[in-house]
Amino acid sequence: MYLDLDRSLTPEQAALRKEVHRFSEEVLRPAASELDKLHDPEDVVKPDSVFWDVMRTYYDLGYHISSLPEAVGGAGLGVLEQNLVGEEIGWGSSDFSVAFGVASFPFTFAAGSTNEQLLKEVARPFLEDRKAEYIGCWAITEPQHGSDTLTVGMEHFRDPNMFFGVTARADGDEWVISGQKAAWVSNGTIATHALTFLGIEESRGAGMAGGGVALIPLDITGVSRGRALDKLGQRALNQGEIFFDEARIPRDYMVAGPEAYPFVLEGVLTAANAFMGVTFSGVARAAFEEALSYSKERIQGGKPIAEHQLVQKKLADMFAKVQAARTLSRETQLYNSAGAGAVQLSIASKVFCTTTAHEVASDAVQIHGGLGLSKGILVEKLLRDARASMIEDGSNDVLSLVAGRKLIDAV
Ligand SMILES: Cc1cc2nc3c(=O)[nH]c(=O)nc-3n(C[C@H](O)[C@H](O)[C@H](O)COP(=O)(O)OP(=O)(O)OC[C@H]3O[C@@H](n4cnc5c(N)ncnc54)[C@H](O)[C@@H]3O)c2cc1C
Repeated sequence: MYLDLDRSLTPEQAALRKEVHRFSEEVLRPAASELDKLHDPEDVVKPDSVFWDVMRTYYDLGYHISSLPEAVGGAGLGVLEQNLVGEEIGWGSSDFSVAFGVASFPFTFAAGSTNEQLLKEVARPFLEDRKAEYIGCWAITEPQHGSDTLTVGMEHFRDPNMFFGVTARADGDEWVISGQKAAWVSNGTIATHALTFLGIEESRGAGMAGGGVALIPLDITGVSRGRALDKLGQRALNQGEIFFDEARIPRDYMVAGPEAYPFVLEGVLTAANAFMGVTFSGVARAAFEEALSYSKERIQGGKPIAEHQLVQKKLADMFAKVQAARTLSRETQLYNSAGAGAVQLSIASKVFCTTTAHEVASDAVQIHGGLGLSKGILVEKLLRDARASMIEDGSNDVLSLVAGRKLIDAV
């Protein structure tokens, strides 16, 4: 082994890492590879798809509640353990890693609430679910507002001429929701619940800062979906539009209003970007390991290409980048868990790890030569998956602007 990944871990942590690695290798990777080849993204989530076998296994193992605190009914995994699990799942499939991550998102919000109705109707069924019957999504992007929704702290976030396309208006004990979320919503066509970031009608004029966060069950009247999105990478990840046409939710299902909205958004960016950093440090590691292994097998110039100095140099550079990504993503999670999270650090981790995954996957393709461009070869898929990650959850350019603003404004 090129490095002992368990050396600094306790026996329990090492056992956990190995257990999740096996799940990734035996379940996630083959399934993601099979789904990646499907021509029609609708087929990824058809009832007899292996996608559902994977989701059911994940829930059956209780992994879906692993990071939730024991106090709310989760498994209460420690932060380092969460990091180990996240990296291994990313190593196996970034498509499934993101699907799993957003699947728990609305329920994590509900579980953290003190509202009895939310706990009983939303959080509890998810916590008890072992069949993947409760699946969440994060609906923030809109056809007319992508980056605009994420640029918290920047001047135009408060531009009165800008506002969400999906809005909520108060009506007695209910909120009435209308508008459309973009086809980019992960788990969009299969989710049962959406944590929806939307505009509060009373705050129209406050720009994107006049937002709120609503927990919306997606089986209610007035909700419909688009077709599954066809895209370059992470093809096993289902995505699609959600339409709201005067859909009504109880008043308490609005879990944050305009006063809290910028803080909640920053908190979500902090958590989501840290998660992306971990997932894509796993992708970078996967690409490096594929390249290392292939370089020892492929004979050119009368010897394995690993014996050629230029290939050795490339492998050493890839290894350094992978280790830097693993270290930064782990350190980010540890830092954030020790107090209030730092969005600038999480963004640094996301941007660095996704960029690294893309660079390392590209080098891994290069080391594979023509074979690396062939369909069915893992590094070809990893390159496409990593490319998508540089736009996913915010384009790296725009996220860096948010981080830069934060660094400058910090006192
Ligand atoms: C794989 C994947 C998964 C995703 N999952 C989800 C999800 O679960 N939920 C969800 O709601 N969304 C999701 N998204 C959407 C994602 O968050 C958006 O694609 C992203 O925020 C960018 O928005 P956009 O695509 O509309 O690009 P745009 O915002 O239109 O940006 C286009 C280009 O302009 C640049 N740009 C934009 N604004 C500025 C500015 N102010 N200054 C300088 N440059 C700027 C950007 O960097 C980019 O290069 C996902 C996307 C991907 C690719």
